Amino acid sequence: MAQRETYDGLMAYQRETEALGQIAGRLGWDQETMMPRGAAAQRSEEMAAIEGVLHARRSSLEVGEALAALDGAELGAVEAAQVAQIRKGFHRARKVPAALASEIAKVTSIAQGQWAEARAADDFAAFAPVLETVVSLKRQEAEALAEGRPVYDALLDDFEPDMTAAQLEEMFAAMRPELVELRAMALDGPAPAPLDGVWDEAGQLKVSEQLALTFGYDMGRGRIDKAVHPFSSGSGHDVRITTRTALEDPFNCFYSTIHEVGHAGYEQNIDAAYALTPLGRGVSMGVHESQSRIYENQLGRSRAFCGHLFGLMSETFSRAPSKNADAFYRTVNAVRKGYIRTEADELQYNLHVMLRFDLERAMLTGDLSVRDLETAWNDRFEADFGYPVDKASNGCLQDVHWSVGLIGYFPTYALGNVYAGCLYEALRAAVPGLEDDLARGETGLALAWLRENLQQFGGLRSPVETITHACGRAPSAEPLLGYLREKFTGLCA
Ligand code: ZN
Repeated sequence: MAQRETYDGLMAYQRETEALGQIAGRLGWDQETMMPRGAAAQRSEEMAAIEGVLHARRSSLEVGEALAALDGAELGAVEAAQVAQIRKGFHRARKVPAALASEIAKVTSIAQGQWAEARAADDFAAFAPVLETVVSLKRQEAEALAEGRPVYDALLDDFEPDMTAAQLEEMFAAMRPELVELRAMALDGPAPAPLDGVWDEAGQLKVSEQLALTFGYDMGRGRIDKAVHPFSSGSGHDVRITTRTALEDPFNCFYSTIHEVGHAGYEQNIDAAYALTPLGRGVSMGVHESQSRIYENQLGRSRAFCGHLFGLMSETFSRAPSKNADAFYRTVNAVRKGYIRTEADELQYNLHVMLRFDLERAMLTGDLSVRDLETAWNDRFEADFGYPVDKASNGCLQDVHWSVGLIGYFPTYALGNVYAGCLYEALRAAVPGLEDDLARGETGLALAWLRENLQQFGGLRSPVETITHACGRAPSAEPLLGYLREKFTGLCA
């Protein structure tokens, strides 16, 4: 009985912590969408204040005492999972000294600004000193968290619980030869016609909203705004997405929207009973990315759905985007040379991630001096892609992640693709009418399967268990490689 009261008390306290976490997230959303420029300094103080409150709550003695009292308690599966998540957050917050946590918050907020300036000026040397500080602070944090594990694994665990660099290394090594071979085949084949002309913003936003609805986004509990870098934010009954427009590249807008709707749909479809609890969020970045990627690629870039999008664009812009739907499908899936990860096709994307994974590990362990990063990046890029980097903004300054201390995050993008491959294989086997549905511009069958088998469970199971439960088999890269082989062999035929 006493344990029941302790559990209920802990969950009530946690519910407030989760609510404050959502408020912090909404401040972040506001910063990227609505906030006046002059508010930046005040906002960083507001964010620091709420982060301080969150850290104190997560590591409070009250929580520690409740967790100790619940040690070994007989709990149901859901309750045990809630307590395990709270326990993990508690230990993490206690292991990192408060002074180090606040130093990381302060330095990364400065570093992000310096990164943006250095990127605009293509000047890595201007960014290197502050990056060196960020990496050194993250190393200290990793050492505090490691408990005998490799330091990189300690950071990776924040984004992908239970995953290790050794497992990723093995997975990526097995993927690389196939990706390189398929890319060579695609680049040697006939180049698809690029899109011509300008696609007005109003039309792009109209199609974008239509796509969001098609992919199941609940606008009654969400909204779409514009941001420089699209993202989704929030969970439960307030999950927002952003998109962007480029006049000559409407696919950027459309597929950013579908991608973010994948993230948002996951959050919106979690069992409502988990709202404002530790289980009420996507379980890991890899599983999150599996949702955004399967919506965007396996469904959104399929031949069947491209036929629908071809019609939707023709109607909205009063002109056809390509000579026919087949040509349109080829244009959507074009494989081209390029420097930028976020613009890469399904084949090259993972190669971009592997490069970052190796370099960030080397920086963290000290095998690569931060000041040598640009040279190391450029050498590696040329070895992997076959042509030299022309400027730093197309090279090691292209991503914001390292400036804000996100080390251990990049591999979850490729892992998400691997998980999406597994899910797509299981989905196709379970839903024979999938292609007909997509060809009509309908996603109901696919989304119901994903909600039923994965999304509703939120953080109930570990990431690997989540994928295994949905697919009926342990995750591996083989389904993704099989899907890519089939798709790009077809495109090159
Ligand atoms: Zn994503």
